[in-house]
Amino acid sequence: MRTRFAPSPTGPLHLGHGYSALLAEGMARAAGGAFLLRIEDIDSTRSRAHWEAQIYGDLRWLGLRWDEEPMRQSNRLPAYEAALDALWARELIYPCQCTRRDIQAAASAPQEGAEPAYGPDGLVYPGTCRDLLAPGYGTTPRPRGAALRLNMARALAQIGEDLWFEETGAGPEGETGRIALSADGLLSHVGDVVLSRRDFPGSYHLSVVLDDAAQGITHVVRGRDLFEATAIHVVLQRILGLETPIYHHHDLIRDDAGKRLAKRDDARAIAKYREDGATPEDIRRLVGLGG
Ligand code: GLU
Repeated sequence: MRTRFAPSPTGPLHLGHGYSALLAEGMARAAGGAFLLRIEDIDSTRSRAHWEAQIYGDLRWLGLRWDEEPMRQSNRLPAYEAALDALWARELIYPCQCTRRDIQAAASAPQEGAEPAYGPDGLVYPGTCRDLLAPGYGTTPRPRGAALRLNMARALAQIGEDLWFEETGAGPEGETGRIALSADGLLSHVGDVVLSRRDFPGSYHLSVVLDDAAQGITHVVRGRDLFEATAIHVVLQRILGLETPIYHHHDLIRDDAGKRLAKRDDARAIAKYREDGATPEDIRRLVGLGG
């Protein structure tokens, strides 16, 4: 078993992160497996070296050890570029120049019986730029400086029917076990997600899938808020010829009012608890992992 914790160094780790990391490490240790770390720093406008340093400090303080050198997404550009080249050659991605406002306008334009749908990345892309290039474009150079979107319909047509993953935790509606994904649902409620951003040759979805595979992750342990995104990850694994790991989505740590903890909720930062004299055992107890 190989599990991982994959924080973004854009703020302090809070109790929810602590829970996720402790759970992932605990699962690996119980199985005699490995626990790995990955720094998801593709957002260069928000990632900071001091947050990364604090992540290592907080995790060590919690008593966590990772078994290999942490992977940093900012070092992974060649892998992302290579995957994008392959998807471009297969005409599974296409350039999109739409702004957020364009998407909003196109999605809410009055259409017979079609309500704008929201998916894991927000408004489902209405497809404005999907068919602008003539078939055969995959032999031309991949454009730089434009967002690239997955052609979901084409991807699904290549994959066929048998889309599913194994969930050992639970989704928002208690989904567990073998989770079947429907092509119709993916088309209507996920659509053509961004795989490469205008300013970075990758996106959360592409990077996470390539990196989990490169780190040999067998069990992805993460918050339930990412359950919907897993459908996208499974599609990408299929078209890229990668194994689908087992997923374990865990419950989210909420504040006393039942609100999900956000990164900006610095009152729940692990560093703040440390400052206030809490022990690692206190943190375990606070997130419900005994102690
Ligand atoms: N980097 C993501 C976050 O900070 C987690 C990604 C994942 O676990 O798949 O929420």
